[in-house]
Parts: sequence; structure tokens; C-alpha cells
Amino acid sequence: MSQSTETAIAKIREKTPRMAICYDFDKTLSPDDMQTFTLIPSLSMDTNEFWAESNQLAVDNLMDKNLAWMYQMIVKSKASRRRISRDYFHDIGKDIKLYKGVPAWFKRINDFGSKQGIEVQHYIISSGLKELVEGSTIAPEFKRIYASSFLYSPDGVAEWPAQAVNYTNKTQFIFRIAKGKFEECDEGVNDSMTDDELYIPYENIIYIGDSATDIPCMRLVKSKGGYSIGVYDPDKDDRAKVYSLLNDGRIDYFASADYTAKGTLNDIVFNIINNIATKEKLRTEAEVLRARSRPYILYKSFQAMMEQKPKIMKRDQELLMQLKKEVEGNIESM
Ligand SMILES: [Mg+2]
Repeated sequence: MSQSTETAIAKIREKTPRMAICYDFDKTLSPDDMQTFTLIPSLSMDTNEFWAESNQLAVDNLMDKNLAWMYQMIVKSKASRRRISRDYFHDIGKDIKLYKGVPAWFKRINDFGSKQGIEVQHYIISSGLKELVEGSTIAPEFKRIYASSFLYSPDGVAEWPAQAVNYTNKTQFIFRIAKGKFEECDEGVNDSMTDDELYIPYENIIYIGDSATDIPCMRLVKSKGGYSIGVYDPDKDDRAKVYSLLNDGRIDYFASADYTAKGTLNDIVFNIINNIATKEKLRTEAEVLRARSRPYILYKSFQAMMEQKPKIMKRDQELLMQLKKEVEGNIESM
């Protein structure tokens, strides 16, 4: 095998394929709605009253519901003279409850992936508040946290929505992850890319969510060859949503939100990683074979070019012989 083919093959083999697991947050990784159970009471607001007013505000003004609760939060906190800063949200985030097994989940999944030759990356795609998730104990596990967030005044007080993530615009983040266009304002997310150019192929993406607001992402991931998983609360055992999601073709699998090594979710994700690893090994071998056949293709096209020439120069003849030498195996027809 020629030096250049060997180098090309070594380069192909040294690439570690990537996969992404994208999680909704509320009721997927955490049993609660983050604003309802931590943030709103912490600001001495009545939770039911807060949501009733904010949802009514959305209806009355044809507003996005997320923009409505963000607006409501700023108005209410100002009225009660409570400063809501990024640090305040981070502090509240520390108290967010997580489902059983979540803290140890990421390392176990990453280790399993790495044993199969796959780099696993984790992403949050949530309509909840980014600053709260950033404060939670598991925040460092995520390559990116995509969620609603505030714009802060120079003295650090929340004063305007910076991002409002709702169930339909959640899908843009799947494209961002696949294309490696991570910044929320990067318009390159709409650039056309071939499968080979993708940062993470769509078939290597898993989306995990719990409800109807996850449907656009579940559908998108599934339709592009990835995997969608629905989860339900292990204690409440309320499976109505996942039964419907599965029956309507939104998800491929469902499991209780038990993230321990014994949970079904662990088995499903391990099997998917195995599947992705097998597909990636075959993809690598196909690429290696393309590299090995390249010298022959080069030789044949040079030969065809020479046949068109009226006079064959000695150095062309030598180059042709050189190209032939680089071809592996017997290429003379019997
Ligand atoms: Mg949810």
C-alpha cells in the first residue's frame, strides 16, 4: 500500500465518531417544573395565581406563553422590590430535584460509549429557565444548555427575555447540534451541509422527553433516522402520555425516568449506543475501502487521459507506471 493511502486510512481510523443525547428538562430529568416548585415560591408568589395570570396574559395579547411568564416574572419581582439576578437564579437552581440516578448517569453513559469507540455528548433543550439549569448540580455534564433565558441590565437584574424557547422553536437546536453551529445567534444553522460535513449525524442523536411539547423534536429526530424516547414519572407511573406518543409514532421507545444502571432507560440507551457503534464501524470501513480503491480510480482516469493524447511522453508513461504500482492487488483482467 502506498504511503499516501496509508496516511489517508490512518486519518480515517483516528476519528472518534460522536453522538448526542438531547434532554428536555422538566419532568424528563427533574420530577418538577423548575419555575413552579422552586423559583415562583422563592419570590413569595402564589404558584397557581402566577400561572393563571401569565397564561391569561398570553391569551389576551396573543403572546407566546414563555414570553408571557418571563414578562410576568419581571413585573412581579419589580412590584415586590425583589432583585432577580443571574446569581439568584443559580442559587435557586442548586435545589432542583432530579430523578433517581440522574447524577451518576452521564459518566456511566460516557464510559460505555467510549468503550464502544463513541464520544457521547449531552445537551439540554428546555423551555424552562437556562439560568436555573446552570445552577443545578448536573450543569457541567452538558456541552450546551439550550433554554429560555433573560437579558440582564448592567447591574445584573433580569429585564428582558434573551431567549424564549417554546416547543416548536426547540427543533432549531437539533439542527444546531447536528451542524455544530452552537451559538444561538449563528445564522449558519440554515447552511446546507452534506451528511459527511455534519458535526453529529442525525442518526446519532437521541432525544428524551416526556410530553406533547417534545413532539416536534421527537418527530424531527425520528424522521432523520435518530431515536426518540419518552419517559414517565416512576412514582406516579402515569403512562398515558407515553402510550399516546408511541401509538402516534412520535417515539420509538418509552421507559420510566429511572436513570440508574438497573433502569430500562439505561438498557435502551446502551443498545442504541451499540447500534450506533456498529453503524459507525461499518461507515469507517466503507470509507477505508474507498481510500484503498482511490489509487486504481486515479490510475484508470490517467490511463484514459493518455489514450486521448496524440503523442505519449516518457514522463507520462513513467507516471502511469508509478500510479499502477500504488494500486493494491491484481487489476489485470483475466
Ligand atoms: Mg418536560
